Amino acid sequence: MKKTEILQESQLNFPYNLESLPYEYNALEPFVDAQTMELHHTKHHNAYIQKANAALENDAANNKIPLVHLFDKVSELSPAIRNNGGGHFNHQFFWQILKANENGKPSGELMQHIDKSFGSFDNFREEFTNAALTRFGSGWAWLAIDDNNELFVSSTPNQDNPLMDIADKRGYPLIGLDVWEHAYYLKYQNRRPDYVKAFWNIVNWAEVEKRYQNLLK
Ligand code: MN
Repeated sequence: MKKTEILQESQLNFPYNLESLPYEYNALEPFVDAQTMELHHTKHHNAYIQKANAALENDAANNKIPLVHLFDKVSELSPAIRNNGGGHFNHQFFWQILKANENGKPSGELMQHIDKSFGSFDNFREEFTNAALTRFGSGWAWLAIDDNNELFVSSTPNQDNPLMDIADKRGYPLIGLDVWEHAYYLKYQNRRPDYVKAFWNIVNWAEVEKRYQNLLK
């Protein structure tokens, strides 16, 4: 993984802290409700942060390494670091790529790349939706780009992600969708397909495109 450094942000250095969202809790209504957003951010994300800090507190060798680089050797680290470090990264990433978009689409080079890789934008959405719906139990669906600049869709269990050395397919996340029940149960109950369908209304394509361009360099 040659470009991991590009994903480094100050929030991903130990000790981790909970940053405010770049929008109000109700900003993604009606697709994701304000109560879910507030609980998800202040309870779930915060719990991953506190537990990741606790897991690394007395681990002087690893707590100096940026989180994105710990993922390179996560198979050698404790489950507490893998699960909670993954939980912190995944949520920090997730909040950034969300924004109400009225069913928007990417533009420019990313759209062309999606067309080339998946045949069409609709085919890409179908493949991503399928990854999100067939992930058994808790996990994430991803659009990512690998070291050869190939786009791919994947899913990971629990709080794993494509940066981790244990991932079936490794790459740099461009879109991530949290399919844990805590992300949708209050509004959608057991209807994960409705939540995944609604997700296309809240992808921040400008941010995804920016990340794509940074990773292409
Ligand atoms: Mn979550």
